[in-house]
Amino acid sequence: MDRYDVAVIGAGPAGSMAAKYAALSGAHTVLLEEHSSIGWPLKCAGLLGNKALEESELPMGKFVLRGLKGARVFSPNTNISFKAKSYKAWVVDRKLFDRALTLEAVKKGAELRLNSPAREFRRENDGCVLTVSDGEQIKADVVISAEGVRARIARNAGIVPVKKILSGAQVEAPFFLEDPEKVEVHFGPAPGLFAWVVPTTNDAARIGLCASDNGCGYLRAFLQKDIIRKRLLGSPVGLVVGGLPMGPPVATVTDRFLAVGDACGQVKPTSGGGIYPGLVCAKIAGSVAASAYKEGDCSAERLREYDKLWRARLGKELEIGMRVNRLLNRMNQTELDEAFSFLARKPELLKAIEEHGDIDRPSILMARMLPYVGLDGIKLAKLLRHALG
Ligand SMILES: Cc1cc2nc3c(=O)[nH]c(=O)nc-3n(C[C@H](O)[C@H](O)[C@H](O)COP(=O)(O)OP(=O)(O)OC[C@H]3O[C@@H](n4cnc5c(N)ncnc54)[C@H](O)[C@@H]3O)c2cc1C
Repeated sequence: MDRYDVAVIGAGPAGSMAAKYAALSGAHTVLLEEHSSIGWPLKCAGLLGNKALEESELPMGKFVLRGLKGARVFSPNTNISFKAKSYKAWVVDRKLFDRALTLEAVKKGAELRLNSPAREFRRENDGCVLTVSDGEQIKADVVISAEGVRARIARNAGIVPVKKILSGAQVEAPFFLEDPEKVEVHFGPAPGLFAWVVPTTNDAARIGLCASDNGCGYLRAFLQKDIIRKRLLGSPVGLVVGGLPMGPPVATVTDRFLAVGDACGQVKPTSGGGIYPGLVCAKIAGSVAASAYKEGDCSAERLREYDKLWRARLGKELEIGMRVNRLLNRMNQTELDEAFSFLARKPELLKAIEEHGDIDRPSILMARMLPYVGLDGIKLAKLLRHALG
């Protein structure tokens, strides 16, 4: 039976980054991926903010399809638009991006095993045993689950499920774009989150949404709306479906075990972005797992350092995000329109969005917007209070 200090399950962005940091911290690390290639199957719009790209520690590479400077945001009957002078976000090819991250983990010393689904997990006195694919077993002192939303091994190991899982669906199609440097965000087509149009070239886009259930059904209806249907320049060339987890459980560690990324709901509930929080938390997970192994103490109590550190970095952001997500879901069409009309009447607010808009840290923008809210804000606050019930 092969023996490792740290075993990471899943070579998505979170798993590759966790493996990289465990290896960098001197742990003999294995990265297990169930598929025969990295970055497949695809379940992503591929939109990354500047901070996410920074956290990836990758130089701008072929994985970047284009930069975005702004957004047009639609409520059912109105819309607002803003555009910054510089690039605020990037559209990436997830297959190439994920591969680049895995390559970095391997370069730093992690051993990658493809075609290696972790099927079973059990604890023994001197480590954990993972049964991989055809009955082969490997032993490790600490296991990091970066399995993504299904997180079957994490559940086996005692990590409780996330608070909710949205149903995501997306097509890629030739599409008329008024401004290919702007992402479109549509509130209203489905309960859950919002719909998006993410430009990939000047005349093609990823059009998708995340709903509380039946993402495919809501997407079909969204594609039939005039605002989308009239701009489709041909048949979709690809369909992507996947779950989007939200709301991490109270504990993301158990004895000899940590969960990271989608496996424990480290996703921004305001945007559905999971790559930035996953990368931030994975670095902490890899480092803490390696230190715990070196100290010879892989108990839940020792590993709780990971839980504390990632919550100190992102806990508040995810919590505020859950509240904003709940708020948006309680607002009816008229309330959404009123809130958007309020923003449209305040050019200084739109300017603040242009300057400080950051899809990775929306709470910073909210704080920057407060001074501009003024007396009209009282009306808005009343509206929000009503929407919050
Ligand atoms: C429709 C949709 C659009 C999205 N758009 C965006 C976006 O634009 N920007 C953004 O930041 N986020 C987006 N997300 C979220 C983002 O895709 C995820 O948050 C991110 O991929 C999570 O990374 P991860 O490494 O935790 O998990 P994953 O990327 O899911 O990787 C998990 C890996 O583990 C492997 N695996 C699973 N089980 C096992 C096992 N038992 N053994 C071995 N290997 C295993 C899988 O094959 C996979 O490679 C979107 C999600 C959806 C559904």
